[in-house]
Amino acid sequence: MSLLYMPAEFVYVRKTDSKDERREAMLTAILAYLSTAEPKLIRALKKLWTEQREQVAIETIQKQLNHGMLLIDLYTGWYTSYQTFVENVTLPLYISAMEHSSQSQLSSLQSFSFNTASPTVLFWLTERSQQLADQLTRTQVNGVVQAISGASKLDYGADELAQLIHGMIGVTPRQAAAIERYYDVLRGEGAKADYALRKAQQYARKSLGYRAQTITRTELSNAYNEGSSQAVAQAQSQGLLGNVNKEWVTMHDERVCPLCGPLDGVIVGRDELFPSGFNAPGAHTNCRCVVLYSEVR
Ligand SMILES: [Zn+2]
Repeated sequence: MSLLYMPAEFVYVRKTDSKDERREAMLTAILAYLSTAEPKLIRALKKLWTEQREQVAIETIQKQLNHGMLLIDLYTGWYTSYQTFVENVTLPLYISAMEHSSQSQLSSLQSFSFNTASPTVLFWLTERSQQLADQLTRTQVNGVVQAISGASKLDYGADELAQLIHGMIGVTPRQAAAIERYYDVLRGEGAKADYALRKAQQYARKSLGYRAQTITRTELSNAYNEGSSQAVAQAQSQGLLGNVNKEWVTMHDERVCPLCGPLDGVIVGRDELFPSGFNAPGAHTNCRCVVLYSEVR
């Protein structure tokens, strides 16, 4: 007898609201989302940094070196380009992360559809985008400030230092310091300037890769968790959901993270803070934890 003709009452119905299954489903969902969205944002950031570097002439860096910290032009230029970037690249990704999260969080509510144009969603999107543009600009300017002040302690020609700093555009202050130390060691060991510059540029590319990864993970995971939170609030205001509590769910490899590990499985009320003081993940850069909302019956 074919399964097709099996009477309905004999079909095994899988219980889909078990906690463990929902936890696993949320983790699978965020991983699936991140695996398609992250590469896009990482690529876009790397492309942006290449463009920003190409837009700065070596002479501009030389002027900064000669006259101190006259970075206002760099600051305004980068701020403008980051504002365009968040609007065109990050914002649509925030929205898709929120939609995706809402779908997996409230998959059992067939009649619910998440409104990404609600005032509270728009407020969050605007605030987060603005913060990101500010923070990316500040970090980058501080990276160049760090590179220039570090270079002033190095004993190489102005042209050489300007080229070194130029190749570092986009890196964080800490990365800038590490690249300059590396450069100084290479030169100290007798490497020619051309070779050392090439190696420093390679190091800078690698550092930018890390920076892109960190920004991407942090931003998308925050938007993902915000999407769940706002979707739950919308469903509640439509009367589709009663009181809920929330549970912190770590990715399997985050159970050893000193911040998130102890929070795994901890349940608090929707508006309460978790014991660590967090409202929701991300608890740290690169955090991939999620929150699972459950109706309190
Ligand atoms: Zn975490």
